[in-house]
Amino acid sequence: MWDFETEPEYQEQLDWVDAFVRTEVEPLDLVLGDPYDKADEQARRLVRPLQQQVRDRGLWAAHLEPELGGQGYGQVRLALLNELLGRSRWAPSVFGCQAPDSGNAEILARFGTPEQRHRYLQPLLDGEISSCYSMTEPLAGADPTLFTTRAVRDGDSWVIDGEKWFSSNARHAAFLIVMVVTNPEVDPHHGMSMFIVPSGAPGLEIIRDAGIGTESPEHSSHAYLRYTGVRVPADHLLGEEGAAFAIAQTRLGGGRIHHGMRTIAQMRRAFDLMLERAVSRRTRTGRLADMQSTQDKIAESWLDIEQFRLLLLRTAWLIDRHQDYRAVRKDIAAVKVAMPRVYHDVVQRSMHLHGALGISNEMPFSAMMVDAQVMAIADGPTEVHRQTLARQLVRDVAPGEPLFGSGHLPTRAAAARAHLAARLERDVAAL
Ligand SMILES: Cc1cc2nc3c(=O)[nH]c(=O)nc-3n(C[C@H](O)[C@H](O)[C@H](O)COP(=O)(O)OP(=O)(O)OC[C@H]3O[C@@H](n4cnc5c(N)ncnc54)[C@H](O)[C@@H]3O)c2cc1C
Repeated sequence: MWDFETEPEYQEQLDWVDAFVRTEVEPLDLVLGDPYDKADEQARRLVRPLQQQVRDRGLWAAHLEPELGGQGYGQVRLALLNELLGRSRWAPSVFGCQAPDSGNAEILARFGTPEQRHRYLQPLLDGEISSCYSMTEPLAGADPTLFTTRAVRDGDSWVIDGEKWFSSNARHAAFLIVMVVTNPEVDPHHGMSMFIVPSGAPGLEIIRDAGIGTESPEHSSHAYLRYTGVRVPADHLLGEEGAAFAIAQTRLGGGRIHHGMRTIAQMRRAFDLMLERAVSRRTRTGRLADMQSTQDKIAESWLDIEQFRLLLLRTAWLIDRHQDYRAVRKDIAAVKVAMPRVYHDVVQRSMHLHGALGISNEMPFSAMMVDAQVMAIADGPTEVHRQTLARQLVRDVAPGEPLFGSGHLPTRAAAARAHLAARLERDVAAL
């Protein structure tokens, strides 16, 4: 059974979300600051009542299973929700599913002790605090086996030393989840562990915050961190000692596809602006929409978005089916590779069609172009995911006949004649 329809009850929820985000949440993007700054009183006053409405509709923290404090909607329904929330910078926070808190909540829920869940997960789920995921290092990003930040056991504590880079939102986080080497003697896949580090821990220092694109220093939020003798109690180890890779995979598998879901909203936004421009702007010969070069842009963009969305929804469906990100690695990698390319291409066409206005800082396209590049780097660069995809695709393929392979037409014709010989002879005899 192939069915592209949404259940009527859930569609009703989505219709409510669509209207709510457009009328109540998108305006926040234009007047409020950083959604991760929980100390911003004005933001709290405006956002709290909206969050309550989301809770009342049963849409809060929709990415988590019910036993973990969420709604248990599964990835397909989450995709349909996220492609609406992705329109707005503030919407994920209003709906309790903003990255990186969503991924941190997921691993705290899955691997945390009852005490860790009480102290860190609950306030995170309640939207009371922000968190940070501190994995990338200045000298190693795409290849985590090269990480050197180290934790050494000392009595009832672990002592962390090293540097991390691009730890987003560290400045507003109440705690950080940091991935460090705990046993350099074994294979890195079993020698690294995750720790929860409360912010403000002595020895934890933000060297500076980097921004992306042309972000001003006050909007820059990706921390270069130094850990100097940062001491955390032994009960702040998250999951098993040596299990950091497995935990990271759980987190990043979900994170990558959730980014894809939200990015669809931005692609559509750029596309809608392209359509509006095409039917509004005129030259001597008529509307831009009536020119073949514009029609090419519109048709290609629609196809790109629809193909990407189908790939993503199918991947979401596979995750729901297997309940295991590892079983869907190939498909998640494919989404990760396609996402920045489609995003970039659609935005570039729309930006170009808007002329000088499109390139100006009075339109969202420049930020979207940078965002497309972010999608090609964050959670692993495109090349790495392309390799994963290709490796998975060839993994179970048997080698062909060594001389000419299975596509060689003369060989295939000979095999076909042999297969049909008896019937061909009967047909000739009957003539
Ligand atoms: C906006 C943003 C937010 C981020 N937030 C966080 C965060 O909160 N926490 C966190 O820990 N990290 C975060 N990151 C870091 C991100 O995960 C890393 O940037 C990413 O893993 C790549 O690492 P790198 O930057 O060190 O690039 P590198 O590993 O140096 O790679 C640079 C380039 O080298 C090439 N390359 C690398 N490896 C290969 C390969 N195997 N094959 C072919 N080519 C290759 C690619 O062209 C790649 O783009 C964030 C990044 C961005 C942009």
